[in-house]
Amino acid sequence: MKVYIKTYGCQMNERDSNALGAALLQRGYELTDNEKEADILLFNTCSVREQAELKAIGKVGILKKLKKVRPHILIGMLGCMAQSKGNTLLEKLPHLDFVIGTDQLQKLPDIIEMELAKREQLSFTETNTDISQSMAQHLETNSVSDFIAIMRGCDMFCSYCIVPYVRGREKSREIAEIADEAKKLADKGIKEIMLLGQNVSAFGLEQNSKTRPSESPFADLLREINSIKGIERVRFISPHPFFFNDKLINTIAECEKVCNNIHLPLQSGSNRILKLMNRRYDSAMYMEIVKKLKKIVPDITFSTDVIVAFPGETDEDFNCTRNIMNEVGFDNAYIFKYSPREGTPAAKYQDQIPQHIKEERNQILLADLKERTTEHNKLMEDRIFKILVEGPSQRNPERWCGRTTNNKVTVFDYNQSLKTGDIIEVHIDRSSSMTLFGSILNH
Ligand code: SF4
Repeated sequence: MKVYIKTYGCQMNERDSNALGAALLQRGYELTDNEKEADILLFNTCSVREQAELKAIGKVGILKKLKKVRPHILIGMLGCMAQSKGNTLLEKLPHLDFVIGTDQLQKLPDIIEMELAKREQLSFTETNTDISQSMAQHLETNSVSDFIAIMRGCDMFCSYCIVPYVRGREKSREIAEIADEAKKLADKGIKEIMLLGQNVSAFGLEQNSKTRPSESPFADLLREINSIKGIERVRFISPHPFFFNDKLINTIAECEKVCNNIHLPLQSGSNRILKLMNRRYDSAMYMEIVKKLKKIVPDITFSTDVIVAFPGETDEDFNCTRNIMNEVGFDNAYIFKYSPREGTPAAKYQDQIPQHIKEERNQILLADLKERTTEHNKLMEDRIFKILVEGPSQRNPERWCGRTTNNKVTVFDYNQSLKTGDIIEVHIDRSSSMTLFGSILNH
């Protein structure tokens, strides 16, 4: 039987879909990218933004016709929206066969078998605190990088965010188990590991306390992965600034494989708004982390997440965000226009901001960002950087591309001795706001 998996939302969902695909292959199913030929259609959903929910519901809605013509097909919704809206989805979409929430995903192959036998609507949305049964399988890939989910859930309850309600409380895996997964990936030729979680810097901390911890099990994990032979680069996403303490900062500086590009969600530069967001840091704490890292990690770059037009955000609040963004000089930023998520405290806040102001503020930050990245990339010209080769460039397959350790996409001429996964030295000849262009040295 052929299975089609469509993924909405974040890298954690991508990782889950990858593990589910690998588990289904092992059970003898075949994966297909063509939904028309699939016998089983799975939709791994996202609840973070309303748009993603509407897209998934719309997509499954139009499959009603298909099911009339091909009644044998199975349709399942998985992940965050399945968790939060389980039975409502089954009622709303009578042709939907099953829903599986975030804590039950590893049961998918069994659930499909159950569904094939019973042929009735089924719902699996119980929460589960044990993640030793985490989904550690990986699909074969030609890529140099792969993802490892190190934890699930989040305890932070930022006032705008639905994640703690749909992914549940934080649950971390054991360091040894993660290291074992990383070693297996290294044996398969993976050079770069991305450690994934909703709040990776809180990894392994029993309970998020109100005071900032001086411990950092996440730093211990970074050291462990750093020591694995064959792994050349380690990245992670997303940490919360509250848990970014000196131990973690020094570990990043000391571990040569931990990359000098840090994604550090800012969300707002206004202390008043940060408080309303329940972010548990202020702009001074955020800047202290950035300054310490800039001081001890050469050529470090930062990326971030920002929400513009949070309820009640004044011009003054917005300018605080703009100023701090320019001061840090982010190389990339995911700028989101605030949209209320039902069930979160911020959805009930007064002073929602009109759409045209959201758009205006978004455009201002995007223009600033382009200016900053152009400046930074210019500073990288006429220097030599180590590049992890990824393969042919998407725009021009005659040329190849890779990344610097600080995550700059770099394009260079192909030569026959080049292989995906090589680490080469490239002289940067010129740059644009998005890309570096260079010449290979001695390869
Ligand atoms: S840290 Fe905040 S924004 Fe991030 S997942 Fe947790 S609640 Fe959501």
